[in-house]
Amino acid sequence: MNDATIDEDARIFVAGHRGMVGSALVRRLEADGYRNIVTRTREQLDLMDQWGVNIFFEEEGIDVVFLAAARVGGILANATMPASFIYENLAIEMNVIHAAYRWNVSKLMFFGSSCIYPRNCPQPIKEDYLLTSALEATNEPYAIAKIAGLKLCEAYNRQYGTRFVSLMPTNLYGPNDNYDLKTSHVLPALIRKAHEARLRGDEFLSVWGSGAPRREFLHVDDLATAAVFLMNHDIDEGVFNVGAGADVTIHELAQTVCRVVGFEGGLEFDRSKPDGTPRKLLDSSRLAEMGWRASIPIEDGIRSVYDDFVAH
Ligand code: GDP
Repeated sequence: MNDATIDEDARIFVAGHRGMVGSALVRRLEADGYRNIVTRTREQLDLMDQWGVNIFFEEEGIDVVFLAAARVGGILANATMPASFIYENLAIEMNVIHAAYRWNVSKLMFFGSSCIYPRNCPQPIKEDYLLTSALEATNEPYAIAKIAGLKLCEAYNRQYGTRFVSLMPTNLYGPNDNYDLKTSHVLPALIRKAHEARLRGDEFLSVWGSGAPRREFLHVDDLATAAVFLMNHDIDEGVFNVGAGADVTIHELAQTVCRVVGFEGGLEFDRSKPDGTPRKLLDSSRLAEMGWRASIPIEDGIRSVYDDFVAH
């Protein structure tokens, strides 16, 4: 315990609690004994409505915020709905971060993404590589919105002395993921496609792109542990990467998914679909030096997610 520890009675607002990250945060916080977790569905509070957000903070006396509400999606969704990705994320960030300052929230954690880093930066990616060269085109609007979010946190800290920190997770997976093939990320997409291919007895599973891009995957329960761990440390500001420490090719990922799902056909690479950024492996040593490490091996994580997918 230290002065920075979040009190068990603190009023903690988890923005985006129905999403994959927000729901993992709620599970973690509840397991850790926090008693006053505040949530709102989109129907109850539209975070893009500045007025409504201000009234919410004024009335609720929020002490701590986890800002995990965002418009998220895979490579195709980012390409087809760029305006939604930039506008909605900017609006949510501006409203929540400004209201958190205005209503004296003691600590806020903003969740970004590893796509904020330049497309061709050295690997593994350190926090310092931000804004050193051009972004990956397929998700630039989303990345710009997330960079704006972390810059908002930095600016408010500098001007107003707030304590807003930013966490940049690598590609995430876990319960409550999105399995809609048009908007999902690669891992839930492959799980669903392999499952359906096995049931139909297909010969091949279609994998987008060349299979060569490398991605790092972190189970969202590991992310939630990292987030609560960091919020209980004497950290007032800054950007922290959070990843599993190793990456795989999309080809290798597809093979692992097929093994877990029990699909025995072959893989077919659909090169009409984009590869996106060639590699995205985070350097998470800042968090590691403080004592945090991912604990869920990827195949175990995929197996538990697949069990959950079949059950639902
Ligand atoms: P990214 O990490 O922002 O590029 O987002 P994604 O998770 O959507 O895609 C990661 C990589 O997986 C890209 O190279 C995709 O082309 C590839 N991929 C292979 N099959 C699929 C699929 O069925 N859906 C998605 N979303 N990506 C796929």
